[in-house]
Amino acid sequence: MDNQTVVYGVIGDPIRHTKSPIMLNRAFRETGVNGAYAAFHVTPDRLEAAIGGIRALGFRGLNVTIPHKVAVMTWLDEIDEGARAIGAVNTIVNENGRLIGYNTDGIGYVRSLKEEAEPELAGRRIVVLGAGGAARGIVWALARELPASVKIANRTWDKARDLAASLGGDGGPVSAIRWEDLRDACGEADVVVNTTSVGMSPNVDDTPIDPAWLKPGAVASDLIYNPLVTAFLRGARERDCRIHGGLGMFVYQGAYAFEYWTGLPAPVAAMRDEVLASFSGK
Ligand code: NAP
Repeated sequence: MDNQTVVYGVIGDPIRHTKSPIMLNRAFRETGVNGAYAAFHVTPDRLEAAIGGIRALGFRGLNVTIPHKVAVMTWLDEIDEGARAIGAVNTIVNENGRLIGYNTDGIGYVRSLKEEAEPELAGRRIVVLGAGGAARGIVWALARELPASVKIANRTWDKARDLAASLGGDGGPVSAIRWEDLRDACGEADVVVNTTSVGMSPNVDDTPIDPAWLKPGAVASDLIYNPLVTAFLRGARERDCRIHGGLGMFVYQGAYAFEYWTGLPAPVAAMRDEVLASFSGK
């Protein structure tokens, strides 16, 4: 770091678990960008002051994580169309004092799915399990790929219905289905995505659905990356499905943020290696 270093960061509450600093600092080193990225613990009552701080100090970019992704929108100058549709911001770009909010979670997920498991999503039948915060961005980004259908099922029906109503237009691919109808929907699906927290450490033996419901050859995708391979994905692999874990989504949401901030292609392989190495304690 020197007198030209451009500063970036992530804010959240809690924040000490985040892998973003090691991943983004590796990206800066790899590309020769004179940048530095740190994690900041910001409680909700300090959010407005924190955003004022990045304006005053001239941070070039910020990632925003739980619980600030919705509330932060109040303090920005402009919200990108996708982030507006999703209703949440995870990346801020500071354009000469103008703060612009983006959401790279959904597009990061789709880029990872296409590069790692299923290059062509047009015409595919997709089932999304869960209708929480992460599902919103994912359903929005999946719908832009012109799939035949995106069926959302959630333990709490009202949330699946509301998500489908807010992101699915008349005649569009997005709809809500009842949890009881999942077995049939999964049997026909080309891609089944788990966006619920079921199977996350420490409950590593739990699965959101019985993997035996999946069609052999289909893609089973899980947003969870701790563990890297969930019980849902293990079961799907035994069923001859192609499997796709959540690490790629994390890497690519950061890759998009890096690209928005610097205008350079993100060194995705190095970013992934850095995060993987941190998991194995190296
Ligand atoms: P969230 O807003 O709290 O939503 C949680 C979802 O899980 C809801 O749909 C909830 O259903 C469902 N759920 C929880 N327990 C369940 C159970 N026992 N049975 C059935 N459904 C259950 O959380 P989120 O922010 O969307 O995150 C969801 C998951 O995605 C987490 O595991 C998170 O780690 C992962 N994630 C990964 C990335 C990445 O970069 N890879 C990014 C974001 C999130 P109800 O509505 O019925 O409660």
